[in-house]
Amino acid sequence: MTAQLIDGNALSRQLRTEVAQRAAALKARGTTPGLAVVLVGDNPASQVYVRNKVKACEDSGLHSVLEKYEAEMTEAALLARVQALNNDPSIHGILVQLPLPQHIDAQKVIEAISPAKDVDGFHIASAGALMTGMPGFWPCTPYGCMKMLESLNDGKGYDLKGKHAVVIGRSNIVGKPMALMLLAKNATVTICHSATSDLKAQTLQADVIVAAVGKRNVLTADMVKPGAVVIDVGMNRNDEGKLCGDVDFEGVKNVAGWITPVPGGVGPMTITMLLVNTLEAAERAAGT
Ligand code: NAP
Repeated sequence: MTAQLIDGNALSRQLRTEVAQRAAALKARGTTPGLAVVLVGDNPASQVYVRNKVKACEDSGLHSVLEKYEAEMTEAALLARVQALNNDPSIHGILVQLPLPQHIDAQKVIEAISPAKDVDGFHIASAGALMTGMPGFWPCTPYGCMKMLESLNDGKGYDLKGKHAVVIGRSNIVGKPMALMLLAKNATVTICHSATSDLKAQTLQADVIVAAVGKRNVLTADMVKPGAVVIDVGMNRNDEGKLCGDVDFEGVKNVAGWITPVPGGVGPMTITMLLVNTLEAAERAAGT
C-alpha cells in the first residue's frame, strides 16, 4: 500500500471532542444545544441511522429528542410537528429522516423546516447559501469530506487551489454540494454522472476524486493518477454482504496518495458534521 489512510473514525473522535467542549461552554452560559430527529414509518435502515444520531448527540453532551411516528402519519400532521419544532426554543436543529413514506412530499417537509434549524443542509435556502457563498448549513456528508481534506498533511490541510477535482455523482445531498465546496476552495471541478461518456478520461486528470455513486468498483486503480486523493462516499454491500464503497480499495490504495476506507471513512464523518451543525445552530441562536 502506498496511499496514506484518511481515518474517519480518528478524525471524528477529535472533532466530537471539540463539539463536546463547545457544547459544555454554551451550556454554562444557559443554552444546551438541542437536536430533534423525526422518523416516520419503520424503515429498518432509518431506525439504525436515527438511533446512531441520537446516541452521538448524547455522547457529546447535546440534548436530543427522537420523535417516532406511524407510517400512516399524514403530511399535514408532519408539517404541523415541524412547525412546532421550529417554534421550540430548546431545539436548534431539526432533522427529518429520509426516505419518507410515499404519500408525503419530502421536499415540502424539508422546505417547512426553518433554515436557521436546517442542520441537514437540505433546505433550498441552505443550497442557495452554499451556491452564493453566504452563511448557512452545509450538507453533512460533503462537509465531512472537506474536513477530511483539511486534516491532511498533519492538519495543515490539502491545498485545493489550482488542483483538479473530479466528483462522481450529482445528487443534491452529496455530489452537487461537494462540487460547490471544492470550487469555493479554488479547485477546478468536473462533475461526472451516469451519462459521462468516458469516466476514466476524467478521473485520470484528477488530483482529488470523490466517488458518490452507490455502485461497487466504479473507480479502479487504472483510473487513478498516482498520488491522487481518493474519497469514497459510497455505501454498498459486497458478495459476502460486507459494507464496501464505490472504490476498489485493494487496487486503488497502491496508486493513490491518500484514500478513505469503507467502513471507517466518510460514514462517521457524516454524523460528526451533524453534531457540528447543531452546535453551530445553537451558538447562532444564543448570539455567540
Ligand atoms: P444518488 O442520489 O443515487 O446519486 C448517485 C449518482 O451517481 C447520480 O448522480 C448518478 O448519475 C451517478 N451515477 C450512477 N451510475 C454512475 C456511473 N456508472 N458512473 C458515474 N456516475 C454514476 O446517491 P447519493 O445519495 O448521492 O449517494 C451516493 C452513495 O453515497 C450511495 O452509496 C449512498 O449510500 C452513499 N452515501 C453515503 C453517506 C455516508 O455517510 N457515508 C451519505 C450519503 C450517501 P445520474 O444523476 O445521471 O443518475
